[in-house]
Amino acid sequence: MAKKTLDQLAMNGKRVLMRVDFNVPLRESLDVADDRRIRMALPTIQCARNAGAKVILMSHLGRPKGKRDPNLSLKPAALRLGELLETDIRTAPDCTGKDVEKLVGAMAEGDVLVLENLRFHAGEEANDAKFAKALAALADLYVNDAFGTAHRKHASTYGVPALMPKGTKAIGFLIQKELEFLGEALEKPERPFVAVLGGVKVSDKIGVIENLLGKVDRLLIGGAMAYVFMVARGQGVGNSKVEREVEKKGKKKDMIAVAKALLEKIEAADAEVVFPEDHLVAREPAADAETDIQGPEIEDGWMGLDIGPETVEIYREKLADAKTVVWNGPMGVFEIGPFADGTRAICNALAQVDEVGTAIVGGGDTAAAVDKFGLAEQMTHISTGGGASLEFLEGKPFETIEIIDDA
Ligand code: AMP
Repeated sequence: MAKKTLDQLAMNGKRVLMRVDFNVPLRESLDVADDRRIRMALPTIQCARNAGAKVILMSHLGRPKGKRDPNLSLKPAALRLGELLETDIRTAPDCTGKDVEKLVGAMAEGDVLVLENLRFHAGEEANDAKFAKALAALADLYVNDAFGTAHRKHASTYGVPALMPKGTKAIGFLIQKELEFLGEALEKPERPFVAVLGGVKVSDKIGVIENLLGKVDRLLIGGAMAYVFMVARGQGVGNSKVEREVEKKGKKKDMIAVAKALLEKIEAADAEVVFPEDHLVAREPAADAETDIQGPEIEDGWMGLDIGPETVEIYREKLADAKTVVWNGPMGVFEIGPFADGTRAICNALAQVDEVGTAIVGGGDTAAAVDKFGLAEQMTHISTGGGASLEFLEGKPFETIEIIDDA
């Protein structure tokens, strides 16, 4: 069911409490090092202002773990927002309490007030009822536009909208766009539909692989993740990075056993799953290290650091006729020059897909790689949430979005 969007709310003269993602990197001097997240939130903020709303913005920044930390104040983000909007922005000393209520009471239509870091309160991540009630009391309407935290049931993402009446809750343009692209890819993709998964942590992507196996035509696996499957098959991986075990909530999980079980599912699936044929290896992950091409196995004393040239060719071919691609996780240690080729090749292939179809990039490291190669403009959609986009691809419903009014 489509969700109510910002432009479907009657905002004139109303206090609109908006969850944004201003979790921006700060310099040591405490100014904003990268304002991309703030710039991306501008259309939603401007739409509300133009409609005559009193816009109250709330966000988290970093991990202050429920304590005030002056180094993690949202003031620098508010300052940057003011520069971008070319207007004076008020900042609140906290996110709830008498002083904040007074500031909200003094707002005029079109004004913007930025509340202080939500995570200065332990109640935010704990979805504490009292904290959520105090936040909800500040507003008439609620808008969520922070996809990066949409997979977390926190006070600002779940507790607050749970308290607000029907007819007052909408998603902003950023979340709308995420649902459109990620949702469409999963539900009615133009085919061939190809997924590319890489990175180190198989543990993050088990659910994604399982869900995508039933949806994609092809699944290409790269990065250090591929080595876990190699170990599960009894192939040599030398000194490569392998996520052999993870600990979640105090419980240890054997990832090799998980990979073995996944290989059985892969065997039974209709989707074609492709693993690297060769690897770019070195003795250490260093820019000046001696490199070699090995495959399908990796010799003792060597580490796999990127997919090899033959694999690059195969993956290029498997992407050539794709109409929908979802990509999460680099093919190698793209941060270090000699090991970036595999990831760059996938990036270039997606840029071509964008011309005839839909090329979707998961957030986090994958988005950073696309930026590094200067190809961000050539992607159809780059998700604003790393962890959130992965959970979405697992096919898990987001309760924070379900609680928003239907359109
Ligand atoms: P993830 O968070 O699981 O998506 O992993 C992203 C990281 O995987 C990046 O920082 C890459 O440097 C790293 N990575 C990808 N391939 C390899 C590899 N073959 N060996 C070590 N690290 C890798």
